[in-house]
Order: sequence, then C-alpha cells, then structure tokens
Amino acid sequence: MSRAWNFSAGPAALPEAVLRRAQAEMLDWNGSGASVMELSHRGKAFMTLAAEAEARLRRLMSVPAGYKVLFLQGGATQHFAQIPMNLAPVGASADYVVTGHWGEKAVREASPYITARVAATSESANYLALPARDTWDLDPGAAYLHYTPNETIHGVEFHDVPDAGGVPLVADMSSNILSEPVDVSRFGMIYAGAQKNIGPSGLVVMIVRDDLLARAGRPMAKIFRYAEHAANDSMLNTPNTWGWYLAGLTFEWLEEQGGLVAMGERNARKASTLYDAIDGSDGFYRSPVEVSARSRMNVPFTLHDSALDAAFLAESEAAGLLALKGHKAVGGMRASLYNAVPQEAVDVLVNFMRDFMARHG
Ligand code: PMP
Repeated sequence: MSRAWNFSAGPAALPEAVLRRAQAEMLDWNGSGASVMELSHRGKAFMTLAAEAEARLRRLMSVPAGYKVLFLQGGATQHFAQIPMNLAPVGASADYVVTGHWGEKAVREASPYITARVAATSESANYLALPARDTWDLDPGAAYLHYTPNETIHGVEFHDVPDAGGVPLVADMSSNILSEPVDVSRFGMIYAGAQKNIGPSGLVVMIVRDDLLARAGRPMAKIFRYAEHAANDSMLNTPNTWGWYLAGLTFEWLEEQGGLVAMGERNARKASTLYDAIDGSDGFYRSPVEVSARSRMNVPFTLHDSALDAAFLAESEAAGLLALKGHKAVGGMRASLYNAVPQEAVDVLVNFMRDFMARHG
C-alpha cells in the first residue's frame, strides 16, 4: 500500500517527512528509551521540546513581543465558547463577521456568554462571497471583533486583514494558519485547531496579546482561563504532548521549506493550478465561489451534471486521490490544498479531472 494523494479537509495530510521522522523516533525519542508519548510533560526533555516548538512558531510567524503562544486542547469549537468567557465581562457585546459555517458556529457557541452581534454576514449569498465592507456595521464599543479568515466548508477566504478600528481582532485561523506570512501585530488573538496545517487533532495553538490576557472576563474555573494557561506555560494540566511534538516537527519542516514566504508562493501556485483547470473546463467543472473570495486552502467545485458525482468519486479514489467529496452544505467536490499537499498532488488531480472530462464530457 503506497500513500495516496490526500485532499482531506481535516484531519488532513501531514508532511510525509514529519510522519517518517515520528515513525523513526516512535520507540526511542531523543535517546530517552521511551516514546515521546510516554514521558512526563514536566521532565526536562519534554519541556525543552515544548519550548523549541514555541520558538519555531514565533520565528515562522514573526510573533512580536507582547504576545503569548499557548498550546491548548478542546478543538477550535471549545474556544468558540471560551473566548467570550475570557475576553468579555457579563453583559458585554462582541462583533462577529460571519462568512460561513464556522463563523455561524462561533456565534452560536458564544451566545450563552455574551451578546454575539452579527456585524456582517454573507448568508444571503449562501456564503459563497464575502460581505462588502460598506455593509459592515461595526460597534466601536465591542469587546472584540471575531472573524474566520478561511471558511473550510464554503471555500471563501479573506485576502487581506480587515480593519477592526480600535477593537481587538480575533481570528479563527484553523484552516489557513501558516499558509502564508501574516502580520500578527494586526491581531489581538489568533487561534487554530491543529488538524489542518499543524499536526494531529486534539491540539489548539493560540497567539494572544498580553493585554487581552489581563482582561478579567467573568468568574470561571481556572482551567478555562487563558491567563492561567499562559502563567503555567500551557501546562496547567497535562497537555497533548504527542500533538505538541508533531506540531514542533511540522514547524521544523516549514523552516526547512523556506518558511511562510515560500509556503505562500507554493500555495498560490497549487490553488491557481486547480482553479485554472476548473475555469478552463468549458463549464464541465464549476467553482461556486466568487472569484475574489476563492480560498487557496479549500477548493469546492461542482460537476456540470451531479449524476456524475458518484462516478467521479469512485474513479478518483481508485486513482489514489482521497477525500474529494464535498461537504453536504455545498455539495459536489472539495479539494483541500494545505501545506502538506504538494504541487505534484494537484497536478495528478488536474490530470485526472481532464481525463474524467474526456471520458464523460
Ligand atoms: N473553525 C474552522 C475554520 C474549522 O475548519 C474547523 C474544523 N474543520 C473548526 C473551527 C472546528 O474545529 P474542531 O472540530 O477542532 O473543534
């Protein structure tokens, strides 16, 4: 069995070099005589690993002074609820820009704790475009402004960082973190579930400005309080040591690839290879997303005749192309092109699509 080309939306492809390294180190990590999963998170060896992973992430993203980096658990979904608990007092209001399924869910999970105000939404466009900036109704008194730079299901991505005025900008970067350089100083908080561009699921990476950690939020158990996690170097309780280790290997791999400038160029090329094939298919394939909002990470596309969907999926899987079925909210197909998906995978996909079209067109 050889490795297939994996277009999964998440948990998603990891760099093969990272998996091979983890395999080689599985039984005896770093001369310890044990797997990294079998070592105490309080031991010197793991503490060194943890600090190195954080330092690499800080270098990769040029995280400025005045920000903490946290390695948490609970998935992005838990933080949809925990962010308002930490950043806003009882009775406060925060703004949400909703551009797809995950933004909707962030509003729903925040609602028990704050007034989660939808300041802009593209729901009327079925989340296949971004809301025009002149329709945004931002509250200058909001506790924060939350948005989803890349909506994984709908395949819409912001190609700039919105101006939040003086309000701290909070970004769910689960599906586009580390895919290109980003100016961290524009954000109050960046958070991401690991299972797309970082490592395995069960780990959440958060970059948060110190002044937001100092906010009182509301009464809550210590385990929910980000300031406590920061004060304890993300070891308030037992962290996801395996996820932290794999994240560190991925960060090292990214540095070897040339960092985020190089990844940004590669990701742009991969995405244009696929969009060009879709746009050049005379309508056999179609991208439902408005061109200016197209995601580089998640590319939904439909076939001109949905009766061909089943054949497309069966034949693509037989050709070693995994997980191309689209999300039911959008239908059709979706190819996710995260950092670990090489250009070669996209070339193979595009050749398959041309061949399929020739046979079924
Ligand atoms: N936000 C975005 C943008 C996502 O893509 C996902 C998962 N696909 C989530 C949040 C939810 O992540 P989790 O399942 O780890 O809670």
